[in-house]
Amino acid sequence: MLLRLRSSPSATDLEVLERVARERGYGVRFLDRRRTVVELERESARAQPGDRVAFEDLAFVAGVLDASDAPELAERTPGREDTILRAGEAAFGGPFVSLAAGPCAVEDEECLLEIARAVRAAGATLLRGGAFKPRTSPYSFQGSGREGLERLARVGAEVGLAIVTEVLDPRDVEAVARVAEVLQVGARNMSNFALLAEVAKSGKTVLLKRGQAATAREFLLAAEHVLARGNARVILCERGVRGFDTVTRNVLDVGTIAHLKRVTHLPVVVDPSHAAGRAELVPPLARAGLAAGADGLIIEVHPRPHEARSDGAQAVSPAVFAEIARAAAALARLDGRRLVVGRGAPEPAAKAGEGVHP
Ligand code: PEP
Ligand code: MN
Repeated sequence: MLLRLRSSPSATDLEVLERVARERGYGVRFLDRRRTVVELERESARAQPGDRVAFEDLAFVAGVLDASDAPELAERTPGREDTILRAGEAAFGGPFVSLAAGPCAVEDEECLLEIARAVRAAGATLLRGGAFKPRTSPYSFQGSGREGLERLARVGAEVGLAIVTEVLDPRDVEAVARVAEVLQVGARNMSNFALLAEVAKSGKTVLLKRGQAATAREFLLAAEHVLARGNARVILCERGVRGFDTVTRNVLDVGTIAHLKRVTHLPVVVDPSHAAGRAELVPPLARAGLAAGADGLIIEVHPRPHEARSDGAQAVSPAVFAEIARAAAALARLDGRRLVVGRGAPEPAAKAGEGVHP
C-alpha cells in the first residue's frame, strides 16, 4: 500500500504513522526526498480489512493508493483541471501549447547553435537533442555523451532555450539533470522502472515517451511510477506505435492522444518526427496531433539533413519548422489556447494559404 501525505511529516506525524503501521504489521519506507510518499510493506502479503481506513483517517494522510493496477495519480478525477507544467519559458497543459525542436542527436556545436537560433526565432521554447542515443544497431552513432551535454548547455544558455534531452542510464541522471530542465525517457525505456525511479528523484520534468508497442494503460502506469515517487512533473509523449505498413516509420496514434486528454490531467505532447520517419509527413502529423488535443510538439530539425548522423530523413528544415509553428499557433487559437513563444520572439502568424496542404 502507498500513502500520499499532505506535506513532509512533522516528528509527531511520523511517530503516529509508525505506531499505526506497527500495530497493523507494516514497515514504513519513504519513496521520495520530500518524504511525502510512503510505502507500507508487510510480510503477509494481503492487507487486512480496516487497514486502508486506519491510514486514511490520519489527518496528515492525503490519500491511500491501493496496491492495485490503476494509474491513480495520473487519472483525471471528475472536475480535475489540466496540470500545467512549465520548463524554462515553455508551458504545457491547460491553455498553453509549447514547441520543442532541435536535431535528433547533438553533433557539432556550430550546427546546434544555428538550429537553436532558428527554432527559437520561429517559436520554440525548448531545445531538443540527444547526447545519449538509443540506437537499434550497436554499430550506429551512439551519441556524443557528456561532451554533448556540455554543448547543449552552452548553446541553450547562449540562445535562451531550456533543454530537453534523453537519459538512458540511471547513472547519468544527475549529469543530465544539471543541464536539462526536461529529462526525456525514450520509447525503448518506457518500462525501465529503475530509470523511472531515478528520473523521479531528480525532481525535474520528465518527458515520457510511449513504448513502441505499449497500450495507453501501460503508458499511464509507467507515468505512475514517476508520480508515485513524489514527482508530479510528467509530460506524456505520443511518438507512434509499431504498425504493419512501412509507409510511415510508426503509426501516429491520434486516437490515443484524444483518449489520454480525457483520462489524465497530465500534459500530452506529440512527436510527429519519429511517427512519420519522413520529413514531408511531419507537418500534417504535427497538425493532426494538435487537433486531437495535444499540448505541444517535439520536432526534429536540421538545416542539412543529409549531414545528420541520425534520423536525417525525418528532419525538417528550419523554414518548415517555422511553418509548423505558424500552424500550431493557429490551431491553438482555434481551441481557445495559446502558443507560448520565447521572450522577444515574434508570435507566429500564418501566411495566406499556408498549412492547408501537406
Ligand atoms: C528521440 O527522440 O530521438 C528518440 C530516440 O525517440 P524515441 O524514444 O521516441 O524513439
Ligand atoms: Mn531521432
